[in-house]
Amino acid sequence: MIREVGAQAGAKLAWKETPIPSVDFNLTPYTVIWEVTRACDLCCVHCRAAAQKIRDSRELSATEGYRLINDIAAWGSPVFVLTGGDPMKRPDLEDLICYAAKERKLRTSLTPSATPLVTKMRLKEIRNAGIARIALSLDGPAAAVHDDFRGEKGCFDRTIEIIRDLKDLDIPLQINTTVARQNIAVLPEIAKLVEGFGAVQWSVFFLVPMGRGKKDDMISPVQHEKIFHWLYDLTKKVPFDIKATAAQHFRRVAIARERRAGRAAATDGRGRYVEVSGAGFRYADGIQRPTQGVNDGKGLVFISHVGDVYPSGFLPIRAGNIREKSVIDIYRDSFLFRDLRNPDKLKGKCGVCEYRIVCGGNRARAWALTGDPLEEEPACVYVPPLAKDGRLPRETGMSKTGPLIRSERRGETEQAESVRTTARP
Ligand code: SF4
Ligand code: SF4
Repeated sequence: MIREVGAQAGAKLAWKETPIPSVDFNLTPYTVIWEVTRACDLCCVHCRAAAQKIRDSRELSATEGYRLINDIAAWGSPVFVLTGGDPMKRPDLEDLICYAAKERKLRTSLTPSATPLVTKMRLKEIRNAGIARIALSLDGPAAAVHDDFRGEKGCFDRTIEIIRDLKDLDIPLQINTTVARQNIAVLPEIAKLVEGFGAVQWSVFFLVPMGRGKKDDMISPVQHEKIFHWLYDLTKKVPFDIKATAAQHFRRVAIARERRAGRAAATDGRGRYVEVSGAGFRYADGIQRPTQGVNDGKGLVFISHVGDVYPSGFLPIRAGNIREKSVIDIYRDSFLFRDLRNPDKLKGKCGVCEYRIVCGGNRARAWALTGDPLEEEPACVYVPPLAKDGRLPRETGMSKTGPLIRSERRGETEQAESVRTTARP
């Protein structure tokens, strides 16, 4: 059943009736994320962007944004996410949404920060501009944990107020939760709140130590595994979709559990069809889920506030800039993206794992903890049979990419001669 956003009277958006086609991730991403600004009034302890209060004068202009949106639309119908920093800091946000959603028919969602900038009036404008979904962060079931995470007293209460406004305005809600040692014990309570809010999706993000996120706040590999099993069981009981983010190995758990139950593909506990041969989990709630294994640079591309192109927001290796080259060419042709899409390039146990095509481990976490984006996932307990035999892959590495150069700026890394010029297919 495709869900209609009720209050957009008559303004039927084309994407709502169009199923997402199966795409070749070598050519087309499933999700495109644009960090419209890095400015934000909050100061979260785990902030990927290490956000600052003031907008950067080098941010992409609206004109550059429209050009970027044109390129994204040329890909067909990827999910388009406007993120930050806090996107609400941009006064032209509604124009950008309107252009993406109504002119270019992109399924567009938004991740505002829970600050006083999110007024009901502005939410109404955003709804009328054609937003498909709004995602809000909730890292604790009450103010004590959540406000500590977000670095701002009152942030929890503000989040609840915004959720109420979204409900009034009939805007689909997604809740994002970052899992870290501080809140691992209260995840069941957060899940209850997500259900009570009537959210369409709970995106459970497993901390990658990047920006202000610290390695010591990460949960252990065994804790990852326990939570994956708990989440899998939860998918059978709750009315909302659950997405494990930066946790590709959740797919291994889900597929193994389905197989154990004798299902190669099956209906879930709520009678909905679930495909488990790829990434699993494709539900029809307006924004569907991919059936292939999305990973950094493989079905996913991130454009920073100044136009730099990265495989994800958590893997700060720059593959190019949209001021110099189209995002399409960078995604398809840069050595970095090509290597990340090639499961034969993976090292360690991921390189011999039978799940490497649907999983492959989180590339950003591998980079954050080893300095090599092709190294094995450090937070996975699984030992593939071939690794038990000691048949690990030879050191293939990023052979064609040239050396990685660490930049002064936020510890980011750049590929020397990373982008090749080739004609777009
Ligand atoms: S709300 Fe988001 S952008 Fe703002 S500080 Fe927190 S994590 Fe960073
Ligand atoms: S070993 Fe790597 S590819 Fe295999 S399940 Fe774990 S993270 Fe995924």
